Amino acid sequence: MTAIDPLLSVRDLRVSFALDEGLVRAVDGTSFDVLSGQVLGVVGESGCGKSVTMRAILQLVERPGRITHGAIRFRRDDGIVDLAQLEPRGAAMREIRGGEIALIPQEPMAAFSPVHTVGEQIIEAILLHSHRWQAGRALSRREARDITVGLFRDVGISMPEQRVDAYSWQLSGGLRQRAMIAMALSCKPRLLIADEPTTAIDVTTQAQVLALLRDLQARYDTAIIFITHDLGVIAQMASYVVVMYLGRVMEEGPVDDIFHAPKHPYTQALLRSIPSLHGKTRVALPVISGALPHPFNRPTGCPFHPRCPDAMDRCSAAVPKPMPVAANQLASCFLHHDEAEP
Ligand code: SF4
Repeated sequence: MTAIDPLLSVRDLRVSFALDEGLVRAVDGTSFDVLSGQVLGVVGESGCGKSVTMRAILQLVERPGRITHGAIRFRRDDGIVDLAQLEPRGAAMREIRGGEIALIPQEPMAAFSPVHTVGEQIIEAILLHSHRWQAGRALSRREARDITVGLFRDVGISMPEQRVDAYSWQLSGGLRQRAMIAMALSCKPRLLIADEPTTAIDVTTQAQVLALLRDLQARYDTAIIFITHDLGVIAQMASYVVVMYLGRVMEEGPVDDIFHAPKHPYTQALLRSIPSLHGKTRVALPVISGALPHPFNRPTGCPFHPRCPDAMDRCSAAVPKPMPVAANQLASCFLHHDEAEP
């Protein structure tokens, strides 16, 4: 939806898991773009395919899952590469993963090895992608350590010279998440994927981590894909939002437009289910009727039709195509157009 060349362009991505019980289509034709320096929010309930989409971008889909279709075009200095075509363990993908695209996972405890200090692990990552800091020569270990201390300072870790020598299990949840952000920034990525990065920390620390990410994004001009089930977090963090349901994009557009004039019944339901700052207290929030369908029992037609208050006869027979519904907004819904997927 933009004339600017995207940094990342995901087109008709499909990821399936072949299980004994049947085939799970976790991602089923997802498309979206990320621009340089943009914060893109990807929102949806658990099981909507947002995390699997991000793992596909990094070629980290675990067996028996695999990318079965689509393109993931990533713009590098020397041209565009389709990540979906790269060997997951090959040299090119290893160079991109952790170097040009970095992940902040939900649970940093699992991401750090408990037997090495946090600083050692970040220093190793910097040495591995040394050229991103210093063209023409490899960095020394001393220089990599100094960069690590600087990163710790940037992410708001006090006493950084001492804390680089701590093990992950010696740090509080909030400090571990900050150290994880330092690790993600250690290779100066062009794109940061933050997968529900505040899930495992308390509310006060969550607010601090979100503020920190906003500040770092502006300072480093890194694009961020921010994955969350929380529209309140999207409102604080993102400029553009993609709403996913059952592995498909239901609606996308600038955050202000989506919040003020949502067109898709699923987006409208998600927005009704977040608390209003000005609303009465102790009023039960409306929940989206019904539950997510079982993965082996995917609905025909529009995936949202069993739960949609506006469903019509054709909604169970054909899959609506994503089509423009406002100046910068796309929605996959027959309430707004008649176009179906072929
Ligand atoms: Fe509801 Fe039909 Fe629109 Fe799907 S296509 S969201 S079922 S109205």
